[in-house]
Formats: sequence, C-alpha cells, structure tokens
Amino acid sequence: MQVAPLRVENLSVTYQGGEVLSCINCEALCGDYIGIVGPNGSGKTTLLRAALGLLPVASGRVLLFGQEPASFNEWGRVGYLPQRLSQMDSRFPASVEEIVTSGLLAARAYPKRVNASDRDRVAATLEELGIGSLARCMIGRLSGGQQQRVLLARALVHGPELLFLDEPITALDPVMRETFYSILEKINKERKTTILFVSHDPGAMGKYAGKLLYLDKKVMFFGTFDEFCHSGDMARHFGAGQHLICHRHG
Ligand code: ADP
Repeated sequence: MQVAPLRVENLSVTYQGGEVLSCINCEALCGDYIGIVGPNGSGKTTLLRAALGLLPVASGRVLLFGQEPASFNEWGRVGYLPQRLSQMDSRFPASVEEIVTSGLLAARAYPKRVNASDRDRVAATLEELGIGSLARCMIGRLSGGQQQRVLLARALVHGPELLFLDEPITALDPVMRETFYSILEKINKERKTTILFVSHDPGAMGKYAGKLLYLDKKVMFFGTFDEFCHSGDMARHFGAGQHLICHRHG
C-alpha cells in the first residue's frame, strides 16, 4: 500500500502558551487536492508550517511520506510556496532563472552544481508557467503577479510529489488567478501531485480542490465541497439554518 504523502495525528501547536491548533487529525492521499480554509487566525499557516517541521509541536505528530519532519530527508519530494507579505525589493539581485534554479538546488545535496539538464528543466518549467520570456529579467523588476509565477516555478521545478501553497493568489488579478488555478489543476491531474492549498475562498476551492479542510483552531470539517455544503455542523457553525448556500465560482 502507498504511504500517504501527509498524515497529521492529534497535532496541537501553541504559541507563548496559547493553543492555536488543537488535536488536528487529517490525511492527504496521493493525488489529493485539498483546500484549507477558515477565518483569519484559524491556524491555516501554522498547520502548513508544522507539517513542514518549521515549528515545534506541543503534542501529536506529522508524517511526511511516513516520516517525521525532523528525520525526513527527501525534501525533493516536497514543494512549498509560502505566503508573501510584501512585494520583493526592486533591487533584489537575482534573475528569474537564478531564482528558479535555486529551487532545484535547495532540494539537492552538496556539491550543488548546475548542469545542462538542470538548465533545460528550469527553461521547461518557465515555459510551462508562461514566463519563458522573463528568464533573464531581474525578479524585483517584475509585477506582483509575475513574481508569484516565478515563485511557483521555483516550488515546482524539482517535480515535487507534495505541494504546499499558502494563499498564493492574493497578489494576482482575476485573469492571472484563473491561469494559476488551471496550472495547478493540470499538475494535480497529470502528475498526480498532492496539493494542499491555503485559501480564504471556499467557493474557489470548491471548484478546484477535491476536498476541503475547514479549520478554526481545530478541524471543523474535512470532506468534499458538496458534503461541506450539506453539512449540518457547518450550517450551524455559520448560523445558516438547515443548509449552507454554497457558491462555486466559474
Ligand atoms: P491563519 O493562517 O489561519 O490566518 P495563522 O496560522 O497565521 O492563522 O495564525 C494562527 C494564530 O497563531 C493567530 O492567532 C496568530 O496570531 C498566532 N500566531 C501566528 N504566528 C505567531 C507567532 N510567530 N507568534 C505568536 N503567535 C503567532
């Protein structure tokens, strides 16, 4: 049987003594596309960071491909696009192809040399994301949307099997958002990449993600969008009477 790319068991995380995630249980199976939604401060980013081993856990555990992050050493199987809080400095001294190449090298042991097939792979990834013509541009000179595509290319260039995305579309205009979603849909369908996508938009996740994880410090709901719309628990949570009225974009 295939090992789940991500398994979270009874996970609790505290910041300065206050619990921000409480007894979280969930699993991402191979090829799952999971939208993680919930109000601001509900612990979505914290869950991703804990899953990546970037935060100490108070109790419980996370397993990446069956191993705890501290002993996991196959980071080439994992991609991460963190939340961006600001536009990159216009003088940031790296070109688009250098940024994307760094994604390839980050997942690799020393010595970290770039060879011809690496260069081809970077070029192919940039083409796939529609930014091949920007390869030699300095990243700081690009628009927010273009920078975001470059950072997605960086997260994808090594061909991860498990991809974490933290609110990746906030800086994008509506057209670019649809492009971004369709790129991810293609990657999920064609490569069977497992995707965990933190979003503030359950409707968009209903359209693209196969499953929704609704967090509010604990798991309030985990299932399909249709189950979410018909969940009595969720209706009570939102104070919406018997059924939620769910809008699926598109
Ligand atoms: P979300 O991604 O759902 O908006 P976060 O995971 O960022 O929520 O934050 C969950 C809670 O943890 C919030 O109350 C936030 O203020 C708190 N928090 C996040 N990061 C830190 C930190 N580094 N130190 C202290 N508290 C934090």
